[in-house]
Amino acid sequence: MTTTLEVALESTITPDPLTTLLPAEPPALLRGMARRVHDSVRAADQNLGHLEEELLRGGHEVLRQMLEKAAQQKADAAPPLCPHCQNKLSRLTGGHFTTIQTRFGSIRVQRVRGYCRRCRKWRFAADALLGLPEEGTQSPAVQEMAALTVSKMPVTEAEQVVERLAGVKISAGTLGRAARAQGQRAQEQRAQLDKKMSTPEGRAQQDPDLQLQLPLEPFTLVIELDAWNIRERDDWGQSAARRAQGEEPSRWHWAYGGTCFRLNQRAQSAGGRPTILSRGYVMTRGGVDALKEQLWAEAMRRGLGRANEVLLVADGAVWIWNLAGDRFPGARQRVDFYHVSQHLWAVAHTLHPEDPAAARAWVQPLLTKLKADESCAVITELEQLQGRLEGASAEAVQKEVNYLQSHRERMDYGTAQQKGEPLGSGAMESTCRQYQCRFKRPGQFWSQTGDEALMCLETFRRNGRWHLLFPHSADPCKN
Ligand SMILES: [Zn+2]
Repeated sequence: MTTTLEVALESTITPDPLTTLLPAEPPALLRGMARRVHDSVRAADQNLGHLEEELLRGGHEVLRQMLEKAAQQKADAAPPLCPHCQNKLSRLTGGHFTTIQTRFGSIRVQRVRGYCRRCRKWRFAADALLGLPEEGTQSPAVQEMAALTVSKMPVTEAEQVVERLAGVKISAGTLGRAARAQGQRAQEQRAQLDKKMSTPEGRAQQDPDLQLQLPLEPFTLVIELDAWNIRERDDWGQSAARRAQGEEPSRWHWAYGGTCFRLNQRAQSAGGRPTILSRGYVMTRGGVDALKEQLWAEAMRRGLGRANEVLLVADGAVWIWNLAGDRFPGARQRVDFYHVSQHLWAVAHTLHPEDPAAARAWVQPLLTKLKADESCAVITELEQLQGRLEGASAEAVQKEVNYLQSHRERMDYGTAQQKGEPLGSGAMESTCRQYQCRFKRPGQFWSQTGDEALMCLETFRRNGRWHLLFPHSADPCKN
């Protein structure tokens, strides 16, 4: 039986909860830092950068020790449940030490381990509370660093950037594995978010962060599409064997992308550059069908169900118009003006192969007509021209006539200008170029799982959904 005296004694020896989080010998640690800063202040050849470096390095040890203590307290408070399925764990044993890589260096934490009968796996109960991945021992902040840097640059560069900026050394291999794991998590989340959009209940329930403010007045939703190709190594280590069998291993594959935004979100930056204030992005290596479903869900988030009008702008590729008819049947369609003008330029060069000035003089009036909604007149002119030609020139012009005929309903550039709508899919093309800066570097080969995972991360960030993957990164001022 506990006496009153014992309770009183207990309360006097219970440590102050804040003190339990302080590093060992904080005054000594801080004095050590102050000494190095003091030395740096007195060194004539050292500037503010040296001071920043000293504080970053010295501060890490203070923060690392506090983090280790706090992480241990969190781990100790974890209920004995499976971090994956919440099932009660059995055969619990304590004291399993693990080393976790954090943004302040390595920490050691003891966790309780138990068996999950549902997952049929040994699990650590604290992993959900700590935010540790199933494979690997990187803290959430390190997982985020990996995701952010590796989706932007090759892993060897990422290793150097992380070490310089964050002062923490993480190997390129670890960064690569951690980034891919985060990318796969992003893909799973994307699938769940997109699935929600397919039912009215799901749309109503979707995360409030994703409920974009839609205007009450009528608006036009613009959707632009484009594709680019990525180099993958399909048959790792088997290229020679494939060639011996007479098969050329395939290398290049299409990545498909789309963007959607309200027309009135188009604006100009202070420097006069066209910009879009708010837009949704989709990018995938999963084929046209994957693009179709992802783009539809993104367009729904951006107001597809409430838009007064939907306008689809793209280059002349056949897959785009099939997708448009299938998933966006009510949308107006426009073929990119620049692509059409390239086809007219091709005719101009056929007619005037040696004379650029004559080619320009021939094409200019036709481009002017196109911009005045006179595409039918342009086609008629080309048909008449074709009738007067023979041989290869006639064939070349016929090819372009066919192209223009197939898009005759999609060349309303006069109307586009009057309504302030985009004449082309430049916004999406520049987005594709930005993705290519990461995914199409000399000497790079990808695997489909690797590129899809990293592309998904990049798209999550662009869509403002980074905090869904890394809740600690949410801006506290927004909540
Ligand atoms: Zn489980």
